[in-house]
Amino acid sequence: MNKKIKLAEWNSIMYQDEKNIESVFLPVGSFEQHGPHGPYGTDSYIAEYITRLLSEKTGIPHLPCVNFGCSDIHKEYRGTISINKNSYISFLSDIFASLLDGNYKNIFVVNGHGGNIQCLNSLADRFKNKLKIIIINWWIIGREFEDFKYEERHHAGAEEMSVLMSLSEKVVYKENLVDTPVSDYNPYQVSKISQLTTTGSIGTTTTASAIRGSDYLFKLLEKIIGKYNLGVHNANISC
Ligand SMILES: [Zn+2]
Repeated sequence: MNKKIKLAEWNSIMYQDEKNIESVFLPVGSFEQHGPHGPYGTDSYIAEYITRLLSEKTGIPHLPCVNFGCSDIHKEYRGTISINKNSYISFLSDIFASLLDGNYKNIFVVNGHGGNIQCLNSLADRFKNKLKIIIINWWIIGREFEDFKYEERHHAGAEEMSVLMSLSEKVVYKENLVDTPVSDYNPYQVSKISQLTTTGSIGTTTTASAIRGSDYLFKLLEKIIGKYNLGVHNANISC
């Protein structure tokens, strides 16, 4: 990986030399159950992975991932760590305020978790006159491609597992992939994941594969770069 795009590896001289950089990526994920096959870090791993690829392609540097998110509906599964919405907004608000102090102008938030969307949207609105916060919900952008069917595009489903497998096949417990029925639902009206599934995942997962994930990601990255005009934000890092 190119060290220059990983902000956690910069020193104070580098920050001084690159003080004209206006754009950064901030990946955000969650720590929640993803069925018997997906690791708890799924959303964070994917957000980090997509961010790193976007950083490498555009030259825009990236912050470390916020590995916890709003996961209340998964709390019935042991090990899930959920941040309540007020705390999450407050925490991220401090991150954005610090970025504002650092004279950044554009924050591209690469989000890996649906439960974070409402908070992220409200933060983008709160900062709109000072900071441009652009929320990139990768799986929503990916809907326009027909790589995955409706039943594959749900929590811990084939779409998500394929993208994760394209990062590393080792982190998915393939022997545990399981299909469950899926019906229409509004995620904002669900208080417990057990209202939707008995396995912790929703829909079809057994069709997941690394090759499907990497084919999809290839298109998705190009789409994201075009949609948000990321090419023109290239910071020309010199250090
Ligand atoms: Zn997920």
